Amino acid sequence: MSKAPAPIPLFEPRLAGNEWKYVKECLDTGWISSVGAFVGKFEAALARRVGMRRAVATSNGTSAIHVALMLSGVKPDDEVVVSSLTFIAPANAIRYVGAHPVFMDAEPDYCQLDVEKTLRFLNKECRWSKGVLTNKATGRRVRALMPVDVLGHPADVAPLRAAARKYGLALIEDSTEAIGSLYRGRPTGKIADFACFSFNGNKLVTTGGGGMLATDDPAMADRAKHLTTQAKCDPIEYVHDAVGYNYRLTNLQAAVGAAQLEQLSGFVARKRRIAARYEKALRAVPGVRPMLEAKWARSTYWMYTVLIDAKRFGMDSRALLRRLAERGISTRPLWQPMHLSPAHKLNQAFECDIAGRLYRDALSLPCSVALTEAQQDRVVAALKELSASAGGKRNP
Ligand SMILES: *Cc1c(COP(=O)(O)O)cnc(C)c1O
Repeated sequence: MSKAPAPIPLFEPRLAGNEWKYVKECLDTGWISSVGAFVGKFEAALARRVGMRRAVATSNGTSAIHVALMLSGVKPDDEVVVSSLTFIAPANAIRYVGAHPVFMDAEPDYCQLDVEKTLRFLNKECRWSKGVLTNKATGRRVRALMPVDVLGHPADVAPLRAAARKYGLALIEDSTEAIGSLYRGRPTGKIADFACFSFNGNKLVTTGGGGMLATDDPAMADRAKHLTTQAKCDPIEYVHDAVGYNYRLTNLQAAVGAAQLEQLSGFVARKRRIAARYEKALRAVPGVRPMLEAKWARSTYWMYTVLIDAKRFGMDSRALLRRLAERGISTRPLWQPMHLSPAHKLNQAFECDIAGRLYRDALSLPCSVALTEAQQDRVVAALKELSASAGGKRNP
């Protein structure tokens, strides 16, 4: 019997730059905790990279979003319009400040927040009076918009920026999955009031766990630093002027992050090559729609995600996931949309039918920065074989 080939993971971090060197520096000097030079270096490097004046490191991406909501003045019983098709973190953070999410549908091409539906909700389903936007269905004040840039592709935020101005709303961009991508030629997150990033182990830039809040407003950045460090206002006496949080990133994590960020351009180039190869090869597989990129976007293809047409492929996305797993190939569906989540089912959902359909059909394929061409060919060959043996229809 021939030996089974090594399993292919969905996504693995690549730690082949200065990570060891910088971490060793922390260990050699004893600066391992939340004070140390790498925190400031990492913050400055990220701010430069995303084109914002300031960035503040946080313990993770979820805490960055939480702080952005607090700084945006989102209050208990307010509402925030957020993508339904997302990892759960932004919806949870909205609840942390006592506000309520209004879940908005995704558009079918790029899986991003549906801007046309969002504008229709704001213009038709809300009442604009005396500088306050009120959701007619719930009677609650709408205070912020939170598009999530899913899968490494930006949401179409320019129309949201205009609507936020018109109605006095904050624009918080959850860019945790899209670091390194471009929106209309500029870094994703750039036109938001706050852009939030994550350095979780499965993100393109990782610190093991960590996050960052970026803004063009220095006063807001100072306030974010204050809130994330227990709101201490005296360097000697323990005097705190607010209820703060311990949302700090450690110097050890920042050392890894600084080294990772140096490699981001190379990571993005590699991810785009992997995506281009998938694109070309998958055209020959019936019932598989490759990942699309908008004309106005430069995606990082963080999670290379295809849509499976069950009828044409010969089996649905979940059956395919199991069959690929038998062959040592790890894939993953998208997140259960928030309007279907038991954690958030009491909140309003606005015409979220596309999000549900994408959830049913989507499958993310192996796409580590270090994925080899041979591994990628194995994934494509498995898809072809499985479709052929399941009686998949030929592409027209
Ligand atoms: C990863 C991620 C976050 C933040 O996750 P953390 O694990 O808290 O860093 C937030 N939103 C989305 C959409 C994410 O994918």
